[in-house]
This record gives sequence, structure tokens and C-alpha cells, in this order.
Amino acid sequence: MNILILGSGGREHTFAWKLKQSPLCKALYVAPGNSGTAAIAENEAIGVTDFQAIKTLVLEKKINMVVVGPEDPLVQGIHDFFLNDADLKRVSVIGPEKAAAELEGSKEFAKEFMMRHNIPTAAYQSFNARTVEAGYQFLETLNPPYVLKADGLAAGKGVLILNDLNEAKAELKSMLVDAKFGEASTKVVIEEFLDGIELSCFVLTDGKNYKILPTAKDYKRIGEGDTGLNTGGMGAVSPVPFATPEFLNKIEEQVVKPTISGLQKDNLPYKGFVFIGLIKVGNEPIVIEYNVRMGDPETEVVLPRLKNDLAEIFQAIANQTLDTINIEIDERAATTVMLVSGGYPEAYEKGKEILGLDKLVDVLPFHAGASLKDDKVVTSGGRVIAITSYGNTYSEALKKSYQNIDKLHFDKMYYRKDIGFDL
Ligand code: AMP
Repeated sequence: MNILILGSGGREHTFAWKLKQSPLCKALYVAPGNSGTAAIAENEAIGVTDFQAIKTLVLEKKINMVVVGPEDPLVQGIHDFFLNDADLKRVSVIGPEKAAAELEGSKEFAKEFMMRHNIPTAAYQSFNARTVEAGYQFLETLNPPYVLKADGLAAGKGVLILNDLNEAKAELKSMLVDAKFGEASTKVVIEEFLDGIELSCFVLTDGKNYKILPTAKDYKRIGEGDTGLNTGGMGAVSPVPFATPEFLNKIEEQVVKPTISGLQKDNLPYKGFVFIGLIKVGNEPIVIEYNVRMGDPETEVVLPRLKNDLAEIFQAIANQTLDTINIEIDERAATTVMLVSGGYPEAYEKGKEILGLDKLVDVLPFHAGASLKDDKVVTSGGRVIAITSYGNTYSEALKKSYQNIDKLHFDKMYYRKDIGFDL
């Protein structure tokens, strides 16, 4: 197969690393890719939502399969674009069709889906610019903290958690009336705050069958002790220690099964990854969100633990024969620590040379916001590189990641030194 991966983050470098190991993979392309993917595949300077340019590339390189990394092309309907084009029909797309991608594209759609199929989730109501007053009244019936979610895609910034009622009302107005998140906050979901520990569950589905991948936990805040601003993710571990077999069974019965059967009942075609964000409240799994793609940096710890041939799995998804695949998981723990540009998630500088990459031993460096410039690897984004390690224990894996990070340097490099310390 000739395979094209869409995206440019650590997630896509991990996909490329894993697919490259498959005897089924003849040629591998990444659009637009980064310095990590450039070393193992061919990068193509095309944006992930430029469907026409993607079509030209697919025809020119005789690509058989497109693996979609981020949510934007899915929510914009890339899978449908392929199905509706006579020249592209034969190409397999890994990622749901547009109607199913709404599970991530609209929080309200996801909540209605969960209510319809009896999937445990926080109580909620949704509001628009005409019903702001009703929104204020609903907020008054809730206890703090208040959870406000912009309905649409807002680059991971659309969820606000506020302790003060007046502040919550002001933010609601700013989202609905002043378009704080543009189109994305035309509607706002207000939901009950869930107090518990978060984890993510990753499921592969071909629309009929499903397979559950290892759980992971990411570290979202910029500061140690989980403080400060939210980021795309500063590190991750897999498996999640509190996800006992008994709790995983609950997730499968109460969340995964009704999700997959709900997709079928609602006629939502889905061939790809379902990323289920959960909060463990007491001993119950409650869903806080669906994403229609893998997480980043969770991919950097989940895929390294998958022993199977990923191209073979993707082929089975395309052919709806996922039931014939026996998923095999590496028993070891995997951890990843993200190196970021100083200042991230606010303003930061780019173009800093990354030194020491040649000195790394026994780790998997997955490039994210890093690119090649005059044969040098330089920073080109906020999250720069994720250093993944295996270990028999979390601490063994983390020690390896941190010892190797000591060999790396770029101007204003920052990372959290406490990933996994709470385990
Ligand atoms: P989401 O984009 O829906 O995952 O929300 C982003 C983050 O907000 C989550 O990772 C949680 O930390 C937090 N969050 C979302 N919904 C809730 C909720 N109902 N209760 C508590 N925290 C939440």
C-alpha cells in the first residue's frame, strides 16, 4: 500500500513510525509533516484541509489509504469528499464520515447522542444568543464550579470552568453575544461539574466491530502540580493505574458498546478512532467528550504499546473485518514528556535549533512543532518534541525520558518535571 498521513504533530510522527514497520506499507507520505516524519517518510507541503491539493497528490502518488490525524479535515468532511469522487472512491480513508465527526464538531450533538443512547454523561442544557437570559437562570440552579462549552471546534480552548456565578454569566454572554470563539460559540452547552479523575479510552471501529486500545492519561496544564493555563498536553502515561479490569469492564459495557451500537442505529458511518474522554466519579465512568481521532500526546504512549501491524489493522477497518484482528498489547508502561517553546501556550519564538538529538539512547523521540531548516532541526511550534520511553514501571520509563531530556537543548526550552509523579 501507498499510505498518506495527514497532519504535522507528534501524533502523526508516531503513526508514521508505526506504519513504517509494516511490510504492507510500500511508500509513506505525510502532509505537511515535520522534521521527524521527513526522516522516515516523504513530506508533502499541503495543508490538511486543502482537499483539492490532497486529491492531486493521492492520484499522482497512487495512494491507497489516507490516515487522518487531526479533527478539522474530518469535521469538514474529507471522508465524504473521497466517497463522492469517482477517482477517489477506491481509496480507504481512516476517520469517520462528516455526519459522525459531529461527535467532536458539536458538543450539543454529542450530548444529544449520549442522552439518546443512555451513555452516562453530565446533566446539561444548551443555549444560543436568543436564550442568554435562560442560560443565566440555568446557571443559578447549579453549584460552582460552572462548566461552559462552546458548541463547535475552538482549537481546544472552548471549555471554560469558572468558580464565580457572575463571571460565568459574563463569559456566557461573551461567548453567545460577543462571539468570543467566533462561529464555535453560536451555541453553548452548560453542564454540571464532575468531580473526579480523568482518563482517556481509545477505541478502533470499522462501524460494526470495535477493539479497545490501552487507556492513557495526559497532563494538560502548563505548570507543575497541574497548575496554570491549559495546553494541548504536556505529557502522558499508559496504562492508567486506576483503570482496573473491573473499571475497564464498566467502560466497555456502559460506554463503548452503546457508543458503537448508537453509531449504527443513528446511521453514522464510522471507520477510525473514537477517543472517549472520561471522568471517574466514585467508581463510575462518565463521558465528558468524544473526539473523532487519536489524542496528542496520548498517541505517543498508546501506539508504542500496540504490538500489531497498524497497516493491517487499518486495512481491516477499511474492509469492516476488524473482528478478525487480535489486538496484542505490550505489558510494559510507556510515558512521554513534551518539550515546549518557552512562553507556550501564549506567545513564543520559533526557529531555535534543537541540539543533542544524536545523543538520545533507548527512547523514542516524536517530533511535533519541529522542522528542518538548512539541514538543522529547529523549533516551529509550541509543542516541539515528545520523548517516549518504555519501562517495567512508570518510574523506570520516566527516568529514561528525563535522563535523555537532559541531553537536549534549545533556547527557552521548557517541560514539566512532574509527569507521572502522581501515580
Ligand atoms: P473537553 O474539551 O470537553 O474535554 O473539556 C476540556 C477539559 O475540561 C476536560 O479535559 C476536563 O478537564 C474539563 N471538563 C470538561 N467537562 C467537565 C465537567 N463536566 N466537569 C469537570 N470538568 C470538565
